[in-house]
Amino acid sequence: MIIAIDGHSACGKSTLAKDLAKELGITHIDSGAMYRAATLYFRKLNILPNDLEGIRKNLSGLEISMVPGETCAVLLNGDVVTESIRASDINDWVSDYAKIPDVRRKLVELQRSMANRGSVVMDGRDIGSVVFPNATIKFFLTADIRTRTNRRVDELRTKGIDVSFEAVKANLIRRDHIDSTREDSPLVRCDDAIVIDNSTLDRAEQQALALRYIAERIPIH
Ligand code: C5P
Repeated sequence: MIIAIDGHSACGKSTLAKDLAKELGITHIDSGAMYRAATLYFRKLNILPNDLEGIRKNLSGLEISMVPGETCAVLLNGDVVTESIRASDINDWVSDYAKIPDVRRKLVELQRSMANRGSVVMDGRDIGSVVFPNATIKFFLTADIRTRTNRRVDELRTKGIDVSFEAVKANLIRRDHIDSTREDSPLVRCDDAIVIDNSTLDRAEQQALALRYIAERIPIH
């Protein structure tokens, strides 16, 4: 079984994916974390997204492993980067690296190979449209920008990262724009995706709604 969850930045895709994985006993893969790890890799090498030659030359040295579990740990060339890929610098750059076709090709291959090992719920931007067009069920999540910004601000402040509402909002709008307008695998809502606007739903309500849709489509669950 493959559950695909796509949607805008900071609309709770990973939270829903985590909750469904736990409830259904399957693996959660956060594909955004992979693009974040790739971004950290190129930032450390001082290779800018417009240096396509540099990106291409160094892609073979990029190794990302995802360790499924409660927090979905991310390893970049053997180092744990689960927390560092959430830094503001990565937020600012990730969509610029994620639009590069060579980067996408490598990560999509990795994402597909991870689903060979069993049932997964994967969240991202192109999971239902490109990575798994034949997914068992597809969700498209969205929420209004104010709600999304507030949630991201709360999340960052809880981690001790001081951010302003306006700066976070600007970053989300910029990323949504780049992600939706890029040429390679833009963020789109697939015709066969179930849309959930969770602006007025809490975590438990969102999970219950998604589980109802899954039960309708996949009677054994
Ligand atoms: O999901 P998250 O916000 O952590 O993703 C970070 C960025 O990675 C997105 O803004 C997008 O640019 C990129 N991404 C992508 N395709 C995916 C997942 C994430 O392009 N499947």
